[in-house]
Amino acid sequence: MALSWLDADASARREAGLHREVTPREESGALVDLASNDYLGLARHPATIAGAQEAAARWGTGATASRLVAGTTRLHDDFERDLAAFLGVEAALVFSSGYLANIGAVSALAGRDGFIVSDTGAHASLIDGCRLSRSQVVVIERGDHEALARVLATRTRQRALVVTDSVYSIDGVIAPIAEYHQVAREHGAMLLVDEAHALGVRGRGGRGVVDELGLSGADDLVVTTVLSKSLGSQGGVVAGSARVRDHLVDTARTFIFDTGLNPPAAGAARAALATLRDNPDLCDQVRHNAARIAERCGGQPPESAVVSLIVGDPHRAVEAAAGCRGVGVHVGCFRPPSVPAGTSRLRLTARADLSEDLIDDVTSRIRGVLDGLGVRVGA
Ligand code: PMP
Repeated sequence: MALSWLDADASARREAGLHREVTPREESGALVDLASNDYLGLARHPATIAGAQEAAARWGTGATASRLVAGTTRLHDDFERDLAAFLGVEAALVFSSGYLANIGAVSALAGRDGFIVSDTGAHASLIDGCRLSRSQVVVIERGDHEALARVLATRTRQRALVVTDSVYSIDGVIAPIAEYHQVAREHGAMLLVDEAHALGVRGRGGRGVVDELGLSGADDLVVTTVLSKSLGSQGGVVAGSARVRDHLVDTARTFIFDTGLNPPAAGAARAALATLRDNPDLCDQVRHNAARIAERCGGQPPESAVVSLIVGDPHRAVEAAAGCRGVGVHVGCFRPPSVPAGTSRLRLTARADLSEDLIDDVTSRIRGVLDGLGVRVGA
């Protein structure tokens, strides 16, 4: 009785086409993967796997404690230095996930007396960070830097933080980071940019949008990113000035109270970062492949590795994704609340290690499915 509302809720979601299934993915090779965020194909790269294995052998399988107790190894230290050098910042701090990095950074940089402006494209982890911070939060339309200026100019609280993704995760479009940064600077606010979908994909050799704009190392800018996409591992990063790092070590609850990033994940990500650093062309390759996928599926030319094919209706989007699976292609299917109502879509992701022949083959299969269902995609 006490739980009958669960059934009512579930059937409402089913009727709306918003029920979700947790489906185990096939072992490698059974389906062509155009759904993961393994943009550079490094999750199965021998060097990445060796990095995880060596770290496990040397440091053990778990961090064994929070970072401030016994969960920091020399590997964590070295890796944070590598990340800071790669990103062109003073210091970096790794967390056990990107989600926790964002929650920790936002809530530590904007407290109860703070003011946050977030845009509508911000990832759920940034939104949750805003909520947990207990700051005053104002949401602006995605990309609207004029609204950002208005909101910052009329705020009554001094300590202000602007949060955004650099590459919006849903459709891979790039946020106006240069404008956001200029406005934030003019109004004495700090800017936090989540580069989860930009690392490995944009900027010189995959250093991200902030690098591309020449803003790396700006003292009023904090970058967060993840180890779980282009670096094929698991974990999150906050990168910026040494004083921001110090502040997070002292105050970010998801750093202080969470068990440290496990050594195999750190070892894998460190190895993947070295692969990326030594092969800057991986970044060009994934963008080239994304462009080819989009062109052949009728999508807009992509700005990152993400190709978004808008279907509209959530039931149709589920049908289209299932049809793709039926022809051996795994694609993402995004529906509300992950995307606005009426914009359910297939989300295809490129990888650097896809051959042109394979892209041509799978995109023909996808087109066949969409045509068979009479789906005309928008973008
Ligand atoms: N930020 C963005 C933009 C993301 O897309 C994600 C992952 N979906 C995260 C943060 C969270 O990262 P993680 O999955 O490593 O926890």
